Amino acid sequence: MKKIIAGNWKMNKLFSEADDFFDAVVEYVADIDSLNNTEIIVCPPSLYLELSTDYTIDLPIAIGAQNVSQYESGAYTGEISPQMLSTMGVKFCIVGHSERRKYFGETNEIVNMKLRNIQNAGIVPIFCIGETLSQRENGEMKDVILKQLEIGLKNVKILNNLYIAYEPIWAIGTGKTATAKQAQEVHALIRNWLRKKYGNKIAEQTPILYGGSVKPENIEELLREQDINGGLIGGASLDENKFMQMIKKAVNITK
Ligand code: PEP
Repeated sequence: MKKIIAGNWKMNKLFSEADDFFDAVVEYVADIDSLNNTEIIVCPPSLYLELSTDYTIDLPIAIGAQNVSQYESGAYTGEISPQMLSTMGVKFCIVGHSERRKYFGETNEIVNMKLRNIQNAGIVPIFCIGETLSQRENGEMKDVILKQLEIGLKNVKILNNLYIAYEPIWAIGTGKTATAKQAQEVHALIRNWLRKKYGNKIAEQTPILYGGSVKPENIEELLREQDINGGLIGGASLDENKFMQMIKKAVNITK
């Protein structure tokens, strides 16, 4: 299985900073002889998607959106459709991020609509799930994760075109990382659910990323876990040097 380094900039970076980031990262990646089965994804704000796809054309850096409308087209002022992303060369789209669930009222049902529409447009969803601290402490983690999977993936037909990101909410932007063991435990739960529901092949080929305060100091330990196939990285992906260090660490690991 490949290793994935995916950066989520959230609502950060002015245009010139985005430009500087790509200047550095594009040159770095172009000079790497072998990525050793490492996939690189950058998810900038929508406004910079065109700049980003232009910058990375012909390079092994895929561009992802952070959000998309749940509708396909029409009178939805301010929204961007899956087809629009697709025609801009966007390959991935984050769906169900806890910040969208928390601040923008995205339910499991809305996440499911987005996920199916994204796939129909040929874009790979990075489907985020995760529990809050109180849910974990109350012993509800497993139920929350399984419900997010069950509803988020309801009637999803294109199973070979799906990434899942386990992002415990208590570890996002807090500096608190789940230990590699804690993360592995939930990744195994997710993979077993996939296996039961869709069979061994789908379970084994679906990348499951971990997100929550991933940084150059902990990426290796996380990636060494059997069911952790990559990182969805917020804060540390904003710094091009840290992002490049994480690419380097992933390249040096053979899974
Ligand atoms: C995220 O944005 O998905 C995330 C995990 O953020 P951070 O790495 O900053 O915790």
